[in-house]
Amino acid sequence: MNYAVPPAAVHTLAIAGSEERFPVNRIFCVGRNYAAHAREMGRDPDREKPFFFMKPANATVQAGAGEVTIPYPPKTANFHHEIELVAFIGKGGANIPVEQALEHVYGYAVGLDMTRRDIQLEARDKGRPWEFGKSFAQSAPIGPIARVDDVGHLSEGAISVTVNGAPRQHSDISKLIWSVAESIAYLSEYETLEPGDVIMTGTPEGVNAVVPGDVMVGEVAGLAPITVRVVGA
Ligand code: MN
Repeated sequence: MNYAVPPAAVHTLAIAGSEERFPVNRIFCVGRNYAAHAREMGRDPDREKPFFFMKPANATVQAGAGEVTIPYPPKTANFHHEIELVAFIGKGGANIPVEQALEHVYGYAVGLDMTRRDIQLEARDKGRPWEFGKSFAQSAPIGPIARVDDVGHLSEGAISVTVNGAPRQHSDISKLIWSVAESIAYLSEYETLEPGDVIMTGTPEGVNAVVPGDVMVGEVAGLAPITVRVVGA
């Protein structure tokens, strides 16, 4: 194969206890999936159908216990953290029944859906796509993936992020409005899921801004924590 221009790199994430890497395909993100976060965004947390937006594969940044850095992105003055449980698709499929959805999950990790909140809210209020608020390079630091074969499925447990040691977001993944299985089933009605797809399951309340120099520590009970420093461009 001769490419006319250099092909895009394959972005991969580490897998705990394995030398293999997880190749990132598409990243689907669930919007407003905790009631208290829906309220803080000025929306009714009634169980409306889930909705999704996407990030490019080059949003991923390998994070972990050791500190990694992400750049403060251009064109924002309100760069927000959203701590999330991340699920990884190992087996593809369409129209997946809820009862079988977890069979498609390869593993889980801790992630941050970093957001240019000012751009996102302006787009939202004008009825425009959220793209520039959500979908940009290095906007998704994600920790090592814990395999379902090793840790099973996660349905409850603390989820939190601190900034410079101070609590910012703290909730429990049992408060997800749409569970991982329900999100996979619903999404697979619209789009055939493929191995390598990633689902960021949504963030609890307490989203807030970070500035260059800030250090975020994100945790989900049972998974490896991540430490991410924001640095000036
Ligand atoms: Mn999010």
